[in-house]
Amino acid sequence: MKWYAKTMHALLIGAVLMGVTLNCSSKPKQNDASSASTEAVASSPENKAATGDIPPGAKALMKAYPDFVKGYRDNKLIMADGSTLVYDDGKEKTFDQRLNNADPEDMFTIPYDTNNWVPGYLHDPGRIRCEALYKKMYGASAAAVQRTLVPVKWFGQTVRFTKVNGAADALRKVAAELAKHPELKKYLKSSGSFYWRQVRFANRLSAHSFGMTIDIGVNYSDYWGFKTRNHSETTKGIKYYNRFPRTLVQIFEKHGFVWGGRWYHYDTMHFEYRPEYFVK
Ligand SMILES: [Zn+2]
Repeated sequence: MKWYAKTMHALLIGAVLMGVTLNCSSKPKQNDASSASTEAVASSPENKAATGDIPPGAKALMKAYPDFVKGYRDNKLIMADGSTLVYDDGKEKTFDQRLNNADPEDMFTIPYDTNNWVPGYLHDPGRIRCEALYKKMYGASAAAVQRTLVPVKWFGQTVRFTKVNGAADALRKVAAELAKHPELKKYLKSSGSFYWRQVRFANRLSAHSFGMTIDIGVNYSDYWGFKTRNHSETTKGIKYYNRFPRTLVQIFEKHGFVWGGRWYHYDTMHFEYRPEYFVK
């Protein structure tokens, strides 16, 4: 443990013992619904184990993925196959590092806020993914994911989507609801779902690799990477564009999909099944 972490650790314990409410952590935790004093105790992996508290993010994963994430103990997610996954690696990370080397805890550092229609600088809720977790659930190779894909009827097309975690069923529900909105039809043509590949301008797997992501409405879509020549993740001043109607977005979100249009690094045709952001 670094001196800084040790000092913070001691300060936090001191603060809790004195009954001081303190909302402080080595990493930003913006979506913690627990009390400030609980958060102070839970801010280091050691203390989470000591108190037996389950962090809100781990709870959300257990609720969203009950077939796979069975429990939490000693800073680890306990998976259905008996394997474990470290929840919080305890490392301080830059924005880039969080994107490229996320632990499950990192995925909850940016809240998925459905009231905010124009994302602020580096506000990318749902864009941070712990690759190891999704590989455990959906498959660790193209062939493994492919075995989970089922056909979903999609407005004259058939798209292949994973049946794992009820993703294909969720997409069917989205389709059924969208069918009641003829005014949205022009946005619905899909340009792809499953595709095992790296993210453009980056060296990590795209969510399309796991079969729980669909791109639609390419003719109306906007993508941050085409609006700037500087593809560093921390490029400032990227202008926001969106041509997708809110009704369409809200129907996807109602069924557990995050929308790439809510990201500072926007990708407005992109909808990804991530129920962990919507469980109550
Ligand atoms: Zn996409």
